[in-house]
Amino acid sequence: MASGSGSGGEWLSGFSSFATDAIHVGQEPEQWNSMAVVPPISLSTTFKQYGPGKHAGFEYSRSGNPTRNCLEKAVASLDGAKHCVALASGLAATVTVTHMLKSGDGIVCMNDVYGGTNRYFQRIAKEIGYDISFADCTKPEVLKAGVWSERTPSNPTMKVVDIQACSDLAHEQNKDIIVVVDNTFMSAYFQRPLALGADICMYSATKYMNGHSDVVMGLISVNREDLYERLKFLQNALGAVPSPFDCYMCNRGLKTLHLRMKQHFKNAMAVAEFLERDPRVDKVIFPGLPSHPQHELMKKQCTGCPGMITFYIKGKLEHATAFLNNLKLFALAESLGGYESLAEHPAIMTHASVPENERVVLGISDTLIRLSVGLEDEEDIIADLDQALGAAVSVFAHTHTQTHTLLQAHKHPQKPIDYYASTQTPLSNRSVP
Ligand SMILES: *Cc1c(COP(=O)(O)O)cnc(C)c1O
Repeated sequence: MASGSGSGGEWLSGFSSFATDAIHVGQEPEQWNSMAVVPPISLSTTFKQYGPGKHAGFEYSRSGNPTRNCLEKAVASLDGAKHCVALASGLAATVTVTHMLKSGDGIVCMNDVYGGTNRYFQRIAKEIGYDISFADCTKPEVLKAGVWSERTPSNPTMKVVDIQACSDLAHEQNKDIIVVVDNTFMSAYFQRPLALGADICMYSATKYMNGHSDVVMGLISVNREDLYERLKFLQNALGAVPSPFDCYMCNRGLKTLHLRMKQHFKNAMAVAEFLERDPRVDKVIFPGLPSHPQHELMKKQCTGCPGMITFYIKGKLEHATAFLNNLKLFALAESLGGYESLAEHPAIMTHASVPENERVVLGISDTLIRLSVGLEDEEDIIADLDQALGAAVSVFAHTHTQTHTLLQAHKHPQKPIDYYASTQTPLSNRSVP
């Protein structure tokens, strides 16, 4: 586990045999006549039966597919779960879970959920007749009956929800309340929501679980048999299933999940510490830093921290834009969780659909930048951030007014903007971790 967080206390210790399970569970060569060590991509849509109703475990590929089976078994083991169902996307997983309810049922959703989840609840599920409300799940006491849908940490402001506290509270009120955790940001490697009392753990496997930015997929893990039966029924009845090829790819991605997440954590920790002491940065939000308000909770319920960092750059929109335009290694792109480093501007990109007044409440300002720190060399990642900060925010030893800054930005949009008004060590001399 990464060190250097500088605060007392350890992270939750890692889940035993995680790597071994990722590599072997569901992958047994003995399940194939060929004894293939790597699960084949089974493209056949249909399966011959010995006699009417007498089949070898598969009938039709939407209902069950051999490649998908291998993936689902592997994911279930990594979540410490009995069962998993794979869906065509993270949103398909959300929709499938929501279909367990009837019109009129209540859903309480974390207020800064993924934008697509928000859009689905507000513009589709609400119209169908679900009673949907949004709450700040970092304060479990504000929650009321319904299905809990949490994502922790949240996006992009990295709020951390106490899964155990919320689950206990929900189940005390009513055992039938289903607590759902969107574990996309953490991946199975860093957090096990089911062990913390949640009923359903779901993912956009598009992100860390597949980890190679080449598959769109959703996953749902459960322990309860009744929930599994219902979800399995809905997987087939709604039909939002992933392709065998994508199942093969994601199954392959899982084989290195533990290695990738360890490195994401290490690189992100180095980036967060670099940004936190940089004078061109106003504030860094990274749950792995002791400065994060819920750092202790994070350490209690997680084994580490993924590569998601948000920070406020000094200045205004122009500075954020100049920073993003000047990145060379980081690609300016939406999404997250792949091996490659990405940067984006939530207010303009991923969260543009959130009304401005709500963005203000959530802290999604014009200077907020979100990074998905990848697996490149730490030195190169930091050097890129350093040079882009240098291009966006110049460090000069004299004062400038805001007006001056603005004018300058408009006249020379591509030039560094004089913003920071104090004496600083020249950038080239500063030590980089
Ligand atoms: C991307 C994402 C989703 C949606 O998943 P898709 O695979 O894009 O449908 C849901 N939740 C979180 C946290 C995400 O990052």
